[in-house]
Amino acid sequence: MISVDEALEKVLEHIDILEAEESPILGCLGQVLAEDIISTINIPPLNNSAMDGYAVRSADTRGASRQSPRVLHVIGTVTAGTISQSEVKPGTAIRIMTGAPVPKGADSVVMFEDTDESARHGVPEEIGILTEVKPGAEIRQAGEDITAGSLVLRKGTVIRPAEVGVLASLGRSKVMVIRRPVVTILATGDEIVDVTQPLPQGKIYNSNSYSVAALVRRYGGTPRILGIASDSEDSLLAMLRRGLDADVVITSGGVSVGDYDVVKEVLAKQGEIVFWRVRAKPGKPLTFGVIKGRSKGGGVRNIPLFGLAGNPVSAMINFELFVRPAILKMMGKKNLVKPAVEAVLEGTIENTDGRRIFARAVVEKRGGKYLARLTGPQGSGILTSMALANGLVVVPEDKPGVKPGDLVKVMMLDWGEEIDI
Ligand code: AMP
Ligand code: MG
Repeated sequence: MISVDEALEKVLEHIDILEAEESPILGCLGQVLAEDIISTINIPPLNNSAMDGYAVRSADTRGASRQSPRVLHVIGTVTAGTISQSEVKPGTAIRIMTGAPVPKGADSVVMFEDTDESARHGVPEEIGILTEVKPGAEIRQAGEDITAGSLVLRKGTVIRPAEVGVLASLGRSKVMVIRRPVVTILATGDEIVDVTQPLPQGKIYNSNSYSVAALVRRYGGTPRILGIASDSEDSLLAMLRRGLDADVVITSGGVSVGDYDVVKEVLAKQGEIVFWRVRAKPGKPLTFGVIKGRSKGGGVRNIPLFGLAGNPVSAMINFELFVRPAILKMMGKKNLVKPAVEAVLEGTIENTDGRRIFARAVVEKRGGKYLARLTGPQGSGILTSMALANGLVVVPEDKPGVKPGDLVKVMMLDWGEEIDI
């Protein structure tokens, strides 16, 4: 049995970064840019007004104050999106709206509040300037955000809403990103029934395929639920064959030492087992290997296969620890770890067999300290413990246990808002 760290290392050794593809910008949220983005334009493209007001020559405002306004002749109006044909000559001003290009001759804008416009009717022929302004006042300079020819976003950047906005501001509707992995998901077990069916006696609903598909989606992959294989090699093989054009295959159940645990047999025959069993609790029976699949061109290629433990909590924790980093790596991401905090434990966890324990907990900040409260019974079949938890208390394999008041590391499953694609 190998350690959690060794297992993750072996998994990542078998994972390659996927190819880049062109994608509409809104579909790229959470993906990694596969090209440097160089601007072909200035943003803003022209000097423009930061305020509604009057475009003036700053020299004309010298000495202006509320007591002694400087009166200028208004020769026109310029609105956003249009270009004034007039020039601001000494003694004149052009009424200007926010975002409108600054007319020729003007070097500054006086905002409405610093004029006597409100005391006049309609669009005035003359305007009193009530304050002195310096050259450049209330003017946004051409290229002050982005200059033409500059590198705006680097290859490797993770696309967040701000990056989507920046790309749109450059007029890019599509960009090259590392594509999302397609992940096929199948359940195993004669007792497992799909959620769309009535539940016969002795059977249970398939929760694993759904929790796993949701995890795949959360971390940016494209899940494809294949169905439920019964506990025979033939059934599993037949279903697996339908999923071999994917980038990753995930099964759940059938990896223990029972008579009907066929995933390992099928993996050994169709590919290669890299490891079976990890010193983790829950999730010990995790199996990882590669299986021969089809590439788009019709050739053969190795597809990583994760045989997750069957118990619903184990399957989810196996996923968080091993599948999540694999998906992130495939997508070209560099940061593969979940955030962790140190917290004061409320509760007791015993470690009896030298495995690394991941206990479901609710983490809260109180009085400037993180507190971790166990969710209650920690059985690996108690899926509601995952629904209650926002973190996993990690007890190292070489520690006999932890008790109330101990400082523990908590791997956070949820950390405020996350991108949900
Ligand atoms: P196994 O490793 O196949 O013996 O499964 C371990 C436990 O997990 C058994 O109690 C199974 O009934 C349960 N289990 C396996 N697959 C699923 C599934 N897809 N959804 C819910 N529970 C499952
Ligand atoms: Mg089973």
